[in-house]
Amino acid sequence: MLGVANQKSIAWACVQSLLEREFDHVFVTYQNERFKKTVDDMTGRLNVLNKHHGKFLKSISHYACDVSSEEEVRRLFQEQIPEYLSSKDRKIALDAIIHSIAYAPSDAMKSGPELSLLNTTRESFEISHQISAYSLVSVARHALPLLSSSSIDNYNGVYHERYPSITALTYLGSSRAVKNYNVMGPAKASLEAAVRGLALELSPPPHKIRVNAVSAGPVNTLAARGIKDFNEMRKEAETRSFLKRSVSSAEVGNTVAFLAGPSASGITGQVIFCDGGYASSG
Ligand code: NAD
Repeated sequence: MLGVANQKSIAWACVQSLLEREFDHVFVTYQNERFKKTVDDMTGRLNVLNKHHGKFLKSISHYACDVSSEEEVRRLFQEQIPEYLSSKDRKIALDAIIHSIAYAPSDAMKSGPELSLLNTTRESFEISHQISAYSLVSVARHALPLLSSSSIDNYNGVYHERYPSITALTYLGSSRAVKNYNVMGPAKASLEAAVRGLALELSPPPHKIRVNAVSAGPVNTLAARGIKDFNEMRKEAETRSFLKRSVSSAEVGNTVAFLAGPSASGITGQVIFCDGGYASSG
């Protein structure tokens, strides 16, 4: 689970939904030291809640991983996670990866009369795409051996068919011009195109990895606060969505956990909306 910053992060809601379903252990990543203490506390509390008679029924471990560093992504999937799994005598395989990361430099998220997208600098455009879209490709490449290590899991002598998956978080600004979303619109379009392209390459045997995205309606998080007039955006979604309310991070987490798990074994290359019907409204 890549991209936990705090309790409000969509990634954190995903962690809870994953643990409520068939997933036994979740590896959480945070960007850097700035988030370590918060994530330490959050994972510690959840681990205690999942402890029964001295045994962890479900558990979480966490690592720093800045996706702008190819080396940090490589180390996570090729050293840290395999080392953890072998130390616990667990199967050396991952069932799902969730990408819940986005970033655009603040100068590119300014809005007003200055025509923000038009004035995006080359550097800000590149950084936004690198962190918000290219990172999915980089993560998929480094995680491939862990995801597709075997399509049959014979852990503990019991054979299970595995349905590995990669799921990314996206937003409607990928396909519609949304005021104040600026350079993140092209970045999310790139992310969604990468989802389809990776699905084309990774879904056929031998890998059998499904790749999808969940397009969430506005949820009040740290990243959302970087979007000018985010509250207006949320109010508009409440008024125009079919459900006449915004979605909660728990609802988004549940959609992600469904798509990531074996119940969605027939779904790949898709963008699934969890937005109360807003994207279909006139
Ligand atoms: P958030 O701020 O909690 O999560 C964004 C995460 O990206 C943070 O954990 C941040 O540390 C991480 N990140 C940024 N740069 C990074 C880097 N270089 N390396 C590693 N991590 C980095 O906000 P959120 O709203 O939970 O965002 C999660 C995802 O959901 C994003 O892809 C966002 O675009 C998407 N999304 C959010 C909304 C919304 O309204 N909040 C709607 C649709 C989609």
